[in-house]
Amino acid sequence: MELPRIEDLGDLRGRRVLVRADLNVPLAVERGEWVVADDFRIRAALPTVEFLRTRGADVTLCSHLGRPKGIDARYSMAPVAKVLEQLAPGVEVLENLRFDPRETANDPSFAQELAHGHDAFVLDAFGSAHRAHASVVGVPALLPSAAGLTLLDEVEHLSVLLEDPPRPYVAIVGGAKVSDKLGLLTALAERVDAVLVGGAMAFTFLLALGHEVGDSLVEEDHVEACRALMDRATIHLPEDLVVLESTEPVGAEVHGPAGRVVGRDVPRGTRGLDVGPRTVERFGEVILGARSILWNGPMGLFEDPRFAVGTTGIARAVAGSSAYSVVGGGDSARALREAGLADQVSHLSTGGGASLEFLEHGDLPGLAALRQAAERRP
Ligand code: ADP
Ligand code: MG
Repeated sequence: MELPRIEDLGDLRGRRVLVRADLNVPLAVERGEWVVADDFRIRAALPTVEFLRTRGADVTLCSHLGRPKGIDARYSMAPVAKVLEQLAPGVEVLENLRFDPRETANDPSFAQELAHGHDAFVLDAFGSAHRAHASVVGVPALLPSAAGLTLLDEVEHLSVLLEDPPRPYVAIVGGAKVSDKLGLLTALAERVDAVLVGGAMAFTFLLALGHEVGDSLVEEDHVEACRALMDRATIHLPEDLVVLESTEPVGAEVHGPAGRVVGRDVPRGTRGLDVGPRTVERFGEVILGARSILWNGPMGLFEDPRFAVGTTGIARAVAGSSAYSVVGGGDSARALREAGLADQVSHLSTGGGASLEFLEHGDLPGLAALRQAAERRP
């Protein structure tokens, strides 16, 4: 995909460039004050900022942060501004774009206000490029615009899987809901050689095959869709499961009894919370034979260490593979980072929903807006 680049913006000396970055960082309270809990997204914005500044541009950053409903001090950009003072002194950051409801409404008057006083626009927020918001699609309609370095890197890595992935191409899909990922699964069914399904979504597939699911998370209204997918693609389902009594609490801080391993049927009064060891082994074999891998979504309720074994096992298999490997999705990326394996994949995508939509549709509203901006330029 050809996107306009910063170099295409011409001479930037003394020009004021607005950069839409993804500064949607996790915050935490420390000594009664909101601080940035993990600055990886701020760091991801720096290459573009530095690239622009070495070309003489004056940079202003903007982003959303969380999902505030109107102005809300809890979602202020102030903690981010503080980190930026250290990492990129002199770079200004606007207040949370979503404090203004016109941002998500893509109100042209808000895009005008953002564009005002700037000579060019750079979109570097891949994780927001699937949203038709004012700062994503409205501003590029008003200013000469280009793709930032982090966004370009994302698009280039994901495009490999869309264009000509080395085969066999294996997708591993997990997570909570099959309904969240039906579009992705349907698109993947056409393109991949096999799909390994884990996580809670596996239970809707298992239900479609007539298995007992106990109290596991299922979406009965998607059983038909799962059946249709299994007719069209090679889908591997878990062969064994880790279950726990339904009355037992689960979660990151819970220290309760360990789960027990069962086959494909979940006993009554229990729920399936992870894939079992045989599944990790079998999925691992398929992963070992792959030359391209996409992984999205954990294999179990990995926030609770009792049910993280399947996800960690798959993370190791993906990291150990020499295939072209892309990991996307907020929770799968977190699992890989926590396992210390983030640098052992070809690409760790920063854009959860955006990467899924890009892999599904091959384009995103923000990318289309950049191309249109380039067409307008003489
Ligand atoms: P990603 O962010 O990687 O796309 P999702 O958001 O779709 O992944 O799903 C992640 C969530 O799914 C996690 O919170 C995890 O606890 C949950 N999950 C995975 N497997 C199960 C399961 N068997 N039962 C309940 N929750 C599960
Ligand atoms: Mg998630």
